[in-house]
Amino acid sequence: MKRIIILFGIFYLMLFSGNPGFSQHKVRKVVIDAGHGGRDPGAVGKHHYEKDLALTIALRTGKYIEKYLPDVQVIYTRKDDRFIELHRRAQIANESKADLFISIHCNANNSSRIYGTETYVMGLHKTQANLEVAKLENAAILKEEDYADMYEGFNPNNDEDYITLSIFQNAFLDQSIELASKVEEQFSKRAGRKSRGVLQAGFWVLYKTAMPGILVETGYLSNPTEEKYLASEQGQVYLASAIYRAIKEYKLAIEADNGALEPKENISDMTEEEIPERKDVILFKVQISSSDKKMAPGTFQDVGKTEFYKQKNIYKYTVGSTTDINEAIRLQNKVRKNKKYKDAFVVAFLNGERISVNEARRMMGL
Ligand SMILES: [Zn+2]
Repeated sequence: MKRIIILFGIFYLMLFSGNPGFSQHKVRKVVIDAGHGGRDPGAVGKHHYEKDLALTIALRTGKYIEKYLPDVQVIYTRKDDRFIELHRRAQIANESKADLFISIHCNANNSSRIYGTETYVMGLHKTQANLEVAKLENAAILKEEDYADMYEGFNPNNDEDYITLSIFQNAFLDQSIELASKVEEQFSKRAGRKSRGVLQAGFWVLYKTAMPGILVETGYLSNPTEEKYLASEQGQVYLASAIYRAIKEYKLAIEADNGALEPKENISDMTEEEIPERKDVILFKVQISSSDKKMAPGTFQDVGKTEFYKQKNIYKYTVGSTTDINEAIRLQNKVRKNKKYKDAFVVAFLNGERISVNEARRMMGL
């Protein structure tokens, strides 16, 4: 049994060391992107423009990071009221090889009753409302002069273009969702906001950035109470510190994972406790026969000790049991030499449940 645990410990390491996006990820550079600016006001409330509130919250968030996470460099796409093209924002993040991209916005809706925070990751919208948010944010493109050239023919008003956009899966989706969840959790638990959840839609800036990225909607300017909150110093402090804490938590979690997995790759260097435990056990057996009736003991005595498992009321008889697929293949070939069992084949089990051999191989990283 101990040998099995060690074997699976090795597979476990192989699985994780084979994923550079995971094991190499550290948070050293964060791009803070204040939405809109200059001739693009973004959403317009009764008294405030989105561009101004987003900038204040963005600058505050950046300040907290600089103060409390000194090993993290903050890069701003803008620090004052100026127009920056959407493609340029993504370019800034990519050129600086940032580890995280955080775009900060305020939302708006035709109904003044709707309020709360939303954090978006790149993907296909599940509701029309989510699509509308992306359309509103991407509309900044239409304020650019030669926008057709820079956006691969993407039309921010065309619903179908959003489906095309979402076909390109973000390689950092898991990390982006992780960060987005932390932001929404902070908004709801620490800042006392109404969280409307982690959502997906096709935002150009998230589509183009080559790192984990989120777009944070800090609240609805179309809701008078929320507009007041967003414009208040207390509101801005709460929102910015919530975003900052989410980034800190994300950084700690991701770098702790790196620490646990990176230093020792050789199983023989590990103490017993350090060997990652993996409860999944994959076993290979050789199936020799099946029958709708239970066979009499000794039926297959010419191949040795057999076992059976049942699938849809059919009894299936196997020989051998090993964690080593090659050993199972050798046994299969040996058994096939007996004409009676010339159709014998290898089967796989995960924790006693039959799975396909391909599935087993994939799980073992073979
Ligand atoms: Zn916006």
